[in-house]
Amino acid sequence: MGMHALPLIRTTTNSFLCGSLKNSSKSLVRRVINTTSNKQQHKQSRINTTATAAMEKHEFDYDIFVIGGGSGGVRASRMSSTAGAKVGLVELPFNPISSDTQGGLGGTCVIRGCVPKKLFVFGSGFKAEFEDAAGFGWDVDPNPKLNWSKLLEAKTKEITRLNGIYGRLLDGSGVTAYEGAGKLLDKHTVEITKADNTKEKVTAQNILIATGGRAVRPDIPGKELGIDSDDALSLDKLPKRVSIVGSGYIAVEFAGIYQGLGCEVDLIFRQPLPLKGFDKEIRENVFNTLKLRGINVCESTTPESLKEDGKGNIDLTLSSGKTINTEVVMFATGRAPNTTRPDIGLKNAGVELDSAGAIKVDKYSRTNIPSIYAVGDVTNRINLTPVALMEGMAFVETVVRGNDKEPDYENVPCAVFCQPPVACIGLTEEQAIAEGRTCDIYTSSFTPMKLTLAGRTEKAFMKLVVDTKDDKVIGCHMVGPDSAEIMQGMGVAMKCGATKAQFDSCVGIHPSSAEEFVTMRTKTRTVGPNA
Ligand SMILES: Cc1cc2nc3c(=O)[nH]c(=O)nc-3n(C[C@H](O)[C@H](O)[C@H](O)COP(=O)(O)OP(=O)(O)OC[C@H]3O[C@@H](n4cnc5c(N)ncnc54)[C@H](O)[C@@H]3O)c2cc1C
Repeated sequence: MGMHALPLIRTTTNSFLCGSLKNSSKSLVRRVINTTSNKQQHKQSRINTTATAAMEKHEFDYDIFVIGGGSGGVRASRMSSTAGAKVGLVELPFNPISSDTQGGLGGTCVIRGCVPKKLFVFGSGFKAEFEDAAGFGWDVDPNPKLNWSKLLEAKTKEITRLNGIYGRLLDGSGVTAYEGAGKLLDKHTVEITKADNTKEKVTAQNILIATGGRAVRPDIPGKELGIDSDDALSLDKLPKRVSIVGSGYIAVEFAGIYQGLGCEVDLIFRQPLPLKGFDKEIRENVFNTLKLRGINVCESTTPESLKEDGKGNIDLTLSSGKTINTEVVMFATGRAPNTTRPDIGLKNAGVELDSAGAIKVDKYSRTNIPSIYAVGDVTNRINLTPVALMEGMAFVETVVRGNDKEPDYENVPCAVFCQPPVACIGLTEEQAIAEGRTCDIYTSSFTPMKLTLAGRTEKAFMKLVVDTKDDKVIGCHMVGPDSAEIMQGMGVAMKCGATKAQFDSCVGIHPSSAEEFVTMRTKTRTVGPNA
């Protein structure tokens, strides 16, 4: 049994129902537990026999109550319920643009992150495809027209569909979902404020906070004239010019999206290269490709102010002294954990934050208050959907099933859906050197076959970082077509501790870009203390 919590899985019908179900029927948006259904009977049959008297003497509405129905919250609640716990969840009403009072089941990833962004990446990729088609003999209209409203409508329809699916997933797994804003009143009580401002209290043995994060803007004059990524995915009209501030993955992805959709794009950032934290050669490649694709890259530059020009546009003044007259300024300057917007009552329960304003948790996602846990972006560990899912699953294993389980942050693969995309796993060359490792570096830079006939000059680039101590591949990086699809398999190999010799022993798939990863025979250089 885990040291963090007694298993929540119960022996008897009464303890399973976990005390009183006060006010439940009138409050439910989705009333999902049908006590007379087969589902319930099936669930009871899976309840294990380890309930303790200590647990049963508490009378809570729920075993687990989750605040936030995004990636982490939905996964944790569904799996907790499937494991036999009685689970409730609260999420704000649906809206593509988030606010203190609006959100929606599915969360950032589904409604205003990964999914709509990737749909726009697909949509914007056609411009280059049309251009490239000519090299393969296609006679394509040199000025194909985009119907922005149609794309926007299709995207909104799809995220609305997914939002509905998330609701049905919760229903199907027996989670009681409430629509409203959740706020801690104490370490076992959550107050739900609904759209009509009525309030309801629910109690739970354990509370999971999964309220995600939100975009932040630099504190400069006129910042309110800009937009963030939520708005950027929902603009009524496609702008002629978009100026994006930032150089993280969201900034670079939106630069590719808007450029591909036909806008003039400026990308303004403080660093000399975009994508801080990624491998330097990958960053250089992205920098060059952004420019090759016609994006106005303003590196080593910061925005100083935004001012309306009186004609419906914005004058964006930069540290270089230059002023850009633009239609839209998008800030992609970072995200902050959602601990205060809306106020989730952390102070009422005494939950501590770290210096970055994220909820402080231990390796089991437990806060300083034993009955309160937190997963996902609100804890600011690795802010990606699959990581929030992993943290949610580890929470279920630890708290509901009673087997202590830590999320595993080693070798988490990730991708940037710029065009062409970047994907990587493990250490960058710079990180490996900083860790004092001596490494062999293998690189390959080449023109992907499809681009040869297209006449495009972009290069794909791949890198393996191999520790000379044991021949293990400790870093794998790529920029080029399909890199995200390729990297998932590399991730499995690296989780298995694959060596360079094992990479080399794998027969390539020909002709593909992926085969380069198993055919890099010539070392580019050795780096580190013993190089
Ligand atoms: C533009 C963009 C692109 C992204 N692209 C990718 C990508 O390609 N790949 C990837 O892995 N990750 C991507 N991410 C990151 C990913 O979306 C997040 O890491 C992930 O959604 C985090 O999940 P979460 O459960 O922690 O929070 P969220 O998904 O943000 O869910 C939190 C939920 O809590 C709700 N909430 C907040 N406060 C309350 C309250 N008081 N009461 C009730 N509900 C509340 C919110 O409405 C929200 O639905 C992207 C993010 C953005 C912004």
